[in-house]
Amino acid sequence: MLYKTQQSGRKGMHGRLSPGNQQREKAMKLLIVEDEPKTGDYLKQGLSEAGFVVDLVRNGPDGLHLSLIETYDLLILDIMLPGLDGWNLLRTLRNAQRDTLVLFLSARDQVADRVRGLELGADDYLIKPFDFAELLARIRNLLRRRDGQRHEADLLTMADLSLDRKRRQVSRAGKRIPLTGKEFTLLELFMLHPGEVLSRAQIASQVWDMNFDSDTNVIDVAIRRLRAKIDDEFAAKLLKTIRGIGYVMEYSE
Ligand code: CA
Repeated sequence: MLYKTQQSGRKGMHGRLSPGNQQREKAMKLLIVEDEPKTGDYLKQGLSEAGFVVDLVRNGPDGLHLSLIETYDLLILDIMLPGLDGWNLLRTLRNAQRDTLVLFLSARDQVADRVRGLELGADDYLIKPFDFAELLARIRNLLRRRDGQRHEADLLTMADLSLDRKRRQVSRAGKRIPLTGKEFTLLELFMLHPGEVLSRAQIASQVWDMNFDSDTNVIDVAIRRLRAKIDDEFAAKLLKTIRGIGYVMEYSE
């Protein structure tokens, strides 16, 4: 009963894209759930040409089934669908702890419908008739936003040092290192910019929220304290002084 899906787009897409696009949209996989034949075909063709791997199903139950057994980057979901409407599909998906991005594409243009969709956990809502360029822009925007969030990793590591941003814990070689709030923020700044030389002024504005012109002693003292905790008793030193410029955190074997 499943609508036959085509996986063959994967190969075709690489030939059409420039290396840059291919890199950016590599293997981004979309599922369209749309019962109106022309709209479904049009979406599938357009999005395939834009470089996505696209599956299309034409009713609610197939949409739910595929979105649960496959991994999609984003779902384009109609609301009025045979078998199971888009709202219930999304509700079931979220109840199953799936956080796949969902964009509603619907002729239902009432504010209440949009609010309902977003409250159920949709990430965006576009009203039919729609402009394809706008749809594409919204899809790319959602994917970009999600990737940005993924890059904001909770766990930062360098060699055997790790910093857990959620729990606000630091450990090295498996041993917990208690840090003060400022020391934690300072270390977090360095670990977010591995190998990057940070000037005292940069550090001052990011960690102390102040502009230090001459009195950089505060920073040097804080660095010394941090170093005593994370580096002193370990062979590999991570936090290095770049004389006359600032500090850098890096690991060289
Ligand atoms: Ca429909």
